[in-house]
Amino acid sequence: MDDVAIIGAGPVGLCLAVLLAQRGKSVRVFEQRSAPSSHSRAIGLHPPAQRILDVAGVGRQAQEQGVPIMRGLGISRGRIVGSMDFGVVGGSYPQILSLPQAATEDLLRERLAQLAPGALSVGCAFERVLDASEPHVEFTAGGATHSARWLVGADGVHSTVRTQLAAAFTGKEHQDHYSMGDFPDATDLRHTAALFLHSSGIVESFPLPGGLRRWVVRTGGGGPSRGTAQQLAQDVARRTGFIVDPEDCSMFSEFATASRFVSSMVHGRVVLLGDAAHQISPIGGQGLCLGLADAQRFSEVVAGVRQVEGFSTMQLRAARAAAHRARLNMFLGRPVPSWMLPLRDAVFQLASSTPRIHDAVARSFTMS
Ligand SMILES: Cc1cc2nc3c(=O)[nH]c(=O)nc-3n(C[C@H](O)[C@H](O)[C@H](O)COP(=O)(O)OP(=O)(O)OC[C@H]3O[C@@H](n4cnc5c(N)ncnc54)[C@H](O)[C@@H]3O)c2cc1C
Repeated sequence: MDDVAIIGAGPVGLCLAVLLAQRGKSVRVFEQRSAPSSHSRAIGLHPPAQRILDVAGVGRQAQEQGVPIMRGLGISRGRIVGSMDFGVVGGSYPQILSLPQAATEDLLRERLAQLAPGALSVGCAFERVLDASEPHVEFTAGGATHSARWLVGADGVHSTVRTQLAAAFTGKEHQDHYSMGDFPDATDLRHTAALFLHSSGIVESFPLPGGLRRWVVRTGGGGPSRGTAQQLAQDVARRTGFIVDPEDCSMFSEFATASRFVSSMVHGRVVLLGDAAHQISPIGGQGLCLGLADAQRFSEVVAGVRQVEGFSTMQLRAARAAAHRARLNMFLGRPVPSWMLPLRDAVFQLASSTPRIHDAVARSFTMS
């Protein structure tokens, strides 16, 4: 019997498996996909996530492959109205690291293969829990029966493990929808993230490895817009003045936003981590970072250096705080009537030029 069976080889499941294997625990990961997903989701690794990747033994490679984002600019009506220097957070990681989620997952998967060869079973979907009475859990995956001392659902927003537990996942959909695309970086923004505060809605722009830049455009509410890279390029040009060629778009996608939480992450010997336990808006880029923190703290529970009591409360409190920040970020990026722009610009200018506010916002934004 394994110490821990993990459902889902996303970043959270893989990170937990690595951390447990490093502690000498026997671990098995079941992933329904036969091949890794190349879809680009998270790119922003905040300082706490960089520290956890270091603990997991892949920090150096992540820093080598990623692009450091040193500061953020707020730009309105062609003028810089706010500037945030992430260096003020200090410590070993005074920056946000931009690394596509697929690359983070690759690093963790390779690390797990070194530490525990054969621990990852791909093309093997979790089906159901057979018996969750103490001291172990029996379940089926890939048509076979397995058992482990702990069963962890790290199987994402649509978690089957959560469904099996009949655990409520409550919250709400937000009115904010976005489209995003990756293009060759033709700006001179380099290691800077830029937020273009336009009256039609925000455009966000982040450097990516490989000479690319991600553009995220608020497209409005009322359901996914079914936009195209061409539409995205038009919005970028109209709202920022920067020209991106839709023919050069290497990734295009759209996303809606929602906040949902379980009431507890721990159900006897079955535990929900990452997006399976808390879904928050990607605006602000915190979901993966929260999930990695879940993985690290739960690995300490399994190792006996942290009590399981209090684990769920602590992690859900962090998730709700992150969701609150994400809602504020979305609010600041909503369309505003043109007459309100000077007022909004003045608020950004004041916050950015008042050292105490600047430093507090930088620490909050980087989850430091
Ligand atoms: C557009 C977008 C941008 C984002 N940007 C950021 C960002 O910049 N920074 C940040 O921190 N976060 C960001 N996020 C959030 C981040 O992507 C998620 O929080 C993160 O992927 C959660 O990881 P996870 O491992 O919990 O779940 P997932 O990544 O969803 O992984 C779950 C895994 O479980 C597998 N699975 C599902 N069901 C089963 C089953 N029955 N049996 C076996 N396997 C199963 C799936 O195939 C998948 O591999 C973004 C999200 C989106 C949508």
